[in-house]
Amino acid sequence: MKAPVASRFPGLFVTATDTDAGKTFVAAMILRTLVAEGIGVGVSKPVASGVIAGAPSDAQTLWEAAGRPRTLSAVCPQAFALPLAPHHAARAEGRTIDETLLREGVLAWTATSECLIVEGAGGLFSPLTDRLLNADLAADLGVPLIVVDSGRLGCVGRVLATCFAAEARGLGVAAVVLSQIDPGGPIDEDAPTSPGRIARDGAEEIARRLPRIAVAVLPHAATVTAPPLDWFRLARG
Ligand SMILES: [Mg+2]
Repeated sequence: MKAPVASRFPGLFVTATDTDAGKTFVAAMILRTLVAEGIGVGVSKPVASGVIAGAPSDAQTLWEAAGRPRTLSAVCPQAFALPLAPHHAARAEGRTIDETLLREGVLAWTATSECLIVEGAGGLFSPLTDRLLNADLAADLGVPLIVVDSGRLGCVGRVLATCFAAEARGLGVAAVVLSQIDPGGPIDEDAPTSPGRIARDGAEEIARRLPRIAVAVLPHAATVTAPPLDWFRLARG
């Protein structure tokens, strides 16, 4: 891959501790917040798998949240049907991931937006192509990470592992978001084993162990994190 982008643009790379951690939900929430603040957003899902024609996709969700800038295919120029790692999903269709388009498709947004939100595929060290990991694309783009986790039991270990590995790779983490996927259910919300309490206690412990990184919880189905974060400021680094 080419040298890192010289002039850093305001943006965030939304990644996760694992697949299905809630990246799209968090990225859409960030986009809606920025739009409400009057900031011109760009949005990119450089590659997606598990995309079925006619069914709602991550890219569609992100595009709608961003107020439909440009076109849906500009959001996600490379989409594949099978729910597998992108390079395997591509191979199943006799195709390969275009690494130049992976990069240029993201950078195309910088000309028309004040703040670019990029959603990766899978976790930070999940592969994108035979050669590249999500972490490699994030490093190339040079924008800080938002690390998303489901906030389920084990979140402290998953988040610390991802953040320490990000640091070793030279990547800056702007914030951690525990996106509480599980609804509260019948348990008392304040019981130590309730999903909300596990996420809140996890966030507190992560913040204590990573004092330089903003940590927030996105309660189940909520539209704003607790505490609220200034996404545009984080995007400007
Ligand atoms: Mg997603």
